[in-house]
Amino acid sequence: MKLAQKMSRIGTESAFEVLARARALEKQGRNVIHLEIGEPDFPTPRHIVEAGKRALDEGWTKYGPTQGFPELREAIAAYISRTRGITVGAENVCVVPGGKPIMYFLMTALLEPGDEVIFPDPSFPIYESLIHFLGATAVGVPVVESRGFSFDLETLRKSLSDKTKLVILNSPANPTGGVIPSGDIAQMAAMLRDRDLIVLSDEIYSRIWYEEEPTSIASHEGMLDKTVILDGFSKTYSMTGWRLGYGVMPVWLATAVVQLMVNSNSCTASFSQRAGIAAIEGPQDCVTAMVAEFRKRRDAIVKGLNTIPGFRCSVPAGAFYAFPNVSGTKMDTKALADLLLNEAGVACLDGTAFGKHGTGHLRFSYANSLDNILEAIERIRQLSNRWA
Ligand code: PLP
Repeated sequence: MKLAQKMSRIGTESAFEVLARARALEKQGRNVIHLEIGEPDFPTPRHIVEAGKRALDEGWTKYGPTQGFPELREAIAAYISRTRGITVGAENVCVVPGGKPIMYFLMTALLEPGDEVIFPDPSFPIYESLIHFLGATAVGVPVVESRGFSFDLETLRKSLSDKTKLVILNSPANPTGGVIPSGDIAQMAAMLRDRDLIVLSDEIYSRIWYEEEPTSIASHEGMLDKTVILDGFSKTYSMTGWRLGYGVMPVWLATAVVQLMVNSNSCTASFSQRAGIAAIEGPQDCVTAMVAEFRKRRDAIVKGLNTIPGFRCSVPAGAFYAFPNVSGTKMDTKALADLLLNEAGVACLDGTAFGKHGTGHLRFSYANSLDNILEAIERIRQLSNRWA
């Protein structure tokens, strides 16, 4: 018996593989500093945990509506309307188990063989994985380091064709930490508004930024009808394990996503959704404090990485990733990441795991304590005679 042919085309997310290898080393007694996984290291804020516990006590332990509880969808619609400067309602919101399922459902609902999908290279590896899995054509557009890891707009324009069905944007971005400048977003909207395509705007890091506040392409004239905003609770409220995310989209797409949800998950965990209401409607100082801490770590890791021979790191404007250019080491980045894990006990990711234009880079997640970040830098420095 063989697996379906399409299984040979699906990819993976290397962060989980490296995490498993790092954990195996820890089991052998090795000390590993985890800078591989994209997960805030802070506990879920207390008032959100309390709301989740209360929900369990109150019996929110049964199936709920497939699209998500109306109260949560109302709260999300109000939040997205306020923060993106648009008007959406609960009917536009699909609550799903994390941000990731929005990618899966939207792309499953839209894509057919022959359709072209534009996506940033490097970017979250699941985009390209799903494009291949669904038999569509992946059109990677390089992000440019000297432009803060945004697209060159002329290259984007030339990549569009009559077959382009979906354009994926991600700002702030994984793995680069890049934030698309608002001027570029306006130009992209002008480029895309009259085309028959959908934009998937992955805004999962929307609250984690340090310079210019990211803007959503959905807020531009003519774009709301063709944009799906992906956001969620994992990164903003340190709720990765609660599995709670959402998409905001035109109703015809929401109907398709709900159909795929009922065929797969039935609904998102009820008590997680109750905690989600507390997260959105409760005090937001926990988010402010987390971002302030990330900023300190960002400054420390960028400064530290720039002292390592062969490394050059620009300052990321958002998310919690540093994406240094390590081509000065003259080492293959997969071999370099392996060396750092096996010999220095520093887990990070090879840039090529995010696309071919990630070549020459490593990704470090600074979702770890300042002490651990400084220790990791020291360990890398001590190993640097291997390539310097
Ligand atoms: N989008 C991007 C760009 C991400 O980096 C991630 C997680 O790492 C997600 C979406 C998925 O988030 P979730 O854990 O809520 O599924």
